[in-house]
Amino acid sequence: MTRQYKETVGVRRTGWAALDRDPQEDKVEFTCPHCGERGSKTARRERALYHFTDGFLQDLQGEATQCRSCGHSLRVVPVVMLHDQDEARRFEAVFSEELAATAP
Ligand SMILES: [Zn+2]
Repeated sequence: MTRQYKETVGVRRTGWAALDRDPQEDKVEFTCPHCGERGSKTARRERALYHFTDGFLQDLQGEATQCRSCGHSLRVVPVVMLHDQDEARRFEAVFSEELAATAP
């Protein structure tokens, strides 16, 4: 039996959508599907690997990581690139159901 990692939607904020944090940091933010804690990891995938899907620039391969809070492995997929507050708001509207579904 293959081990299936739990999945959660990730957000990679850049440009105007990332004004509230260090512009040098390039992070994927997510909510742990195991414990519900917010986490982040350094973005590893090239921006060229992101493609427009459903109106957003997304990485449908995602990235694997481990929650720093509970230690469980998870997959952050898809990773959605957000460039400004407009996109951030649109993202929240479109993905709110999925985000709610991953809450504990
Ligand atoms: Zn966790």
